[in-house]
Amino acid sequence: MNFHFLGGAGEVGRNAVLVESGDLRLLFDCGIKAVTPYEFPLLKEAKRPHAVALSHAHLDHSGYLPAFLQHASVPVISTFPTFPLVQLLLEDTQKIAEQERRTPYFSSADLRKLQKHSRALPYHQEHLFHDGSSLKLLDAGHILGSAQVFYETKEGNVLYTGDLNTTSTQLHAPAEACKENVDVLVTESTYGNSEHPNRQQLEKKFGYAIEEALADDFAVLIPAFALGRTQEILCVLQAHGLSNNLFVDGMSVKASDIVLNFPSYLKDAQKFAEAFSRAHKVESAAERKGACKPGHVILATAGMLEGGPSMSYIQQFLKRGIKAKIFLTGFQVRGTKGRRLLEEGIIRLNGKTEKWPWEVRFFDFSAHADQKGLLRHAKKANPEKIFCVHGDPEQLKTLVHLFREEGFDAYAPQNGDKITV
Ligand SMILES: [Zn+2]
Repeated sequence: MNFHFLGGAGEVGRNAVLVESGDLRLLFDCGIKAVTPYEFPLLKEAKRPHAVALSHAHLDHSGYLPAFLQHASVPVISTFPTFPLVQLLLEDTQKIAEQERRTPYFSSADLRKLQKHSRALPYHQEHLFHDGSSLKLLDAGHILGSAQVFYETKEGNVLYTGDLNTTSTQLHAPAEACKENVDVLVTESTYGNSEHPNRQQLEKKFGYAIEEALADDFAVLIPAFALGRTQEILCVLQAHGLSNNLFVDGMSVKASDIVLNFPSYLKDAQKFAEAFSRAHKVESAAERKGACKPGHVILATAGMLEGGPSMSYIQQFLKRGIKAKIFLTGFQVRGTKGRRLLEEGIIRLNGKTEKWPWEVRFFDFSAHADQKGLLRHAKKANPEKIFCVHGDPEQLKTLVHLFREEGFDAYAPQNGDKITV
């Protein structure tokens, strides 16, 4: 089998791994890196795949699909909820590009082509290819419809984790273990060097920090990814009695509507439906202005502050001198505005760098497995070879080292690497 790493190797973002076995070439994910300007996978340097297996809807896994399909007509295989979610995220990407007067890297016709080539598959159902190889999707516990891809070929079996969560959250059960024989594991490594805090303690700490901020007459802005994190935080706030004066803004409102359409993919759909129904949905600029008040909690996209209404709120708080705390709830990719705010306390607004005068905190509400979880998952799969992708260099280095100590043949490839197994 030949592995060609086209994106997301040695970095977080633009995941794309091409696996060639016999006559068949399967592409695992086809994402973008959401930095300014976007970075794309190195697909032009690769042989054309016969099909794409899409792990989940997040843009760092799906975002390049419409551009890729401009020059290819191949099926894209994923779970049922993933496709409407991808469509929503890509339409939003187009909208943001138009607002920022940039030419989007794909057109509406490309989006329609993606719809036409989408092949939805339930978890555990086999998809057979013409050469007798097959794939199966397994629950990854990361977001709605997220999947690990098990690819069975005559030359060996591959398990591609996509993004993986091995702990139980408000919304999802943990990732399932693969019961098949795995020869090559391609694992995400986002938190390969880290341990997550205990989830219940984290929720308490988060709830307490919000209560404290509101008591001190602050507003609280919670930038969150539209898909996954927003829904999780809604449930957390509801569980801790903090759903009064709660505002939800951005694409997360539409994403939540889609989530409600797939109740069987949630741990407790009723709980989420209740939490979502209690929040005020912000639908206009005037409502956004009204939401900017001390005592209000605002849950807004984008999670890494790369565009979206969260940036409008930051602008308003600064302009109107409304005291606000920012509680980041997800991984902040290097080079994003969120990472700079967290590390340097500064924010880029309209081409100018401004100092953020109030508190910024990070709460590790990760939807990714930590080091222990990744190791446990790898041990269950017990592969001959492990490729570590989707991680910052220091996370990858530690994880590879750990896997080797445990007796695995592990390696962190770089983008462009071609490796025969
Ligand atoms: Zn993801």
